Amino acid sequence: MIKELFLTLTVKIFLVAMTSFWTRRAFLLGAVTAVALTAGSIAQQSALFAQGKGEVNVYSSRHYNTDQQLYDQFTRQTGIKVNVIEGEPDPLIVRIKSEGKNSPADVFITADAGRLWRATQEGIFSPTTSKTLQSAVPSNLRDPQNHWFGFSKRARVIVYNKAKVKPGQVQNYADLAKPQWKGKVLSRSSSNIYSQSIGAWMLITQGETALSNWSKGLVANFARPPQGNDKAQIEAVAAGVGDLALVNTYYLGSYAADKDPKKREIYNKVGVIFPDQKGKGTHINISGGGVVKTAPNRANGVRFLEYLVSPGAQKFFAQANNEYPVVKGVALDPAVAKWGTFKESSVPVSQYGPNLAKALQIMTAAGWK
Ligand code: FE
Repeated sequence: MIKELFLTLTVKIFLVAMTSFWTRRAFLLGAVTAVALTAGSIAQQSALFAQGKGEVNVYSSRHYNTDQQLYDQFTRQTGIKVNVIEGEPDPLIVRIKSEGKNSPADVFITADAGRLWRATQEGIFSPTTSKTLQSAVPSNLRDPQNHWFGFSKRARVIVYNKAKVKPGQVQNYADLAKPQWKGKVLSRSSSNIYSQSIGAWMLITQGETALSNWSKGLVANFARPPQGNDKAQIEAVAAGVGDLALVNTYYLGSYAADKDPKKREIYNKVGVIFPDQKGKGTHINISGGGVVKTAPNRANGVRFLEYLVSPGAQKFFAQANNEYPVVKGVALDPAVAKWGTFKESSVPVSQYGPNLAKALQIMTAAGWK
C-alpha cells in the first residue's frame, strides 16, 4: 500500500515536472542528441565505405599544424583516405629512397623549391602529366619537367622594428648590408634552405660578386650569431635584439590574428618591407610537391595534387596558413591583404636548386655561419 502510494506520487511529480519549461527543453535536447548520434554513426559508416575508394599516402615535411583540415577536406570531396607521414624533409627523402620499390609513399610535399629540386636529384619523383596542374600553376612556380608543382607561394621580406627604423630607410635586400646597420641585422643560419634559396636567387639575379659582398655586409651587421627560425627573428626584432631581419610572409601573417595577445603585441611592434620593388622584385618561394616514382596509388596521388590547386584548397593555404595562393582570384588572409600588392621576382623557382651549392659556398666563405 505504501509502495503503491509512493509510485503514484513519483508519477505525479514527474508529470508536473514535465510541464516546466526547462525540463521540456532538457528532454528536447536529449532527443536532438540522440538524432545527432544516429546521424554521426551513419556518417561514420559512409566514411568507412568511402575508404573503399582507396587511399593516398602523403609524406609531408610541411610543418604547419593546420594541414590536417586540408586532408580532411580532400577525403570529404573524394572519399579517398589520406594517410600522412610527417617528418623533416631530408630524412623523408632518405626514407623514400631506402624503402625503394616497396615504399608506400604516393606523394612527397615540402616547403622550398630548393628542397624539391634536391628530391628530384635524388630520383624520388616521376613526372606528372596533368592539364589541371599545368594550367593552374604558373610556369615559374613548377619544375619544367613536371616532377613537382608549387601550390602555395611565400615572399621573403624584411621585417623591421617600427620604433627604430623609419619606412623608406630600407628598400632593398642590399640595404641590409650597408654599414649604417652595424649590429642591427638578425638572420637565421646559412645552413637553412630559406637562406640558401635567397642566396641562389641573388647569385642568379646579381652574380657572384654581388652575393659575396652582400653576405660580407650582412655578417658585419649581425646583431648576434645566426640562430633560430623565422619566428625567432620576428620576436627578436620586436624585442629590440636587432632592428631588421629576413622572414617568410606566412610567419608574420600568423602573428597578426593570433589568439594570444602577446603574439599580436609582437606583430604591432614590427613593420614589413617588400624589397627590390624598383629592381628585380621580391624573392619568392613555394611550398609544393610531386608524385613519387614508386607510388602504389599513383592516380590518387595525381588527384591529390590536383586538389591542392582547387579553389577550396587554395583558399585554405591563403586563409588558414597566411600563404599566397598560386591560383589567381583566391582571397587572401586579411592581414596579408593589408600589406598590399607587390612586384614579385619572375625568376623561375626551379633555378634555385642548381645554384644552391655555389651560393652556400660564397655565403660561408663570407663568414655567414
Ligand atoms: Fe617555413
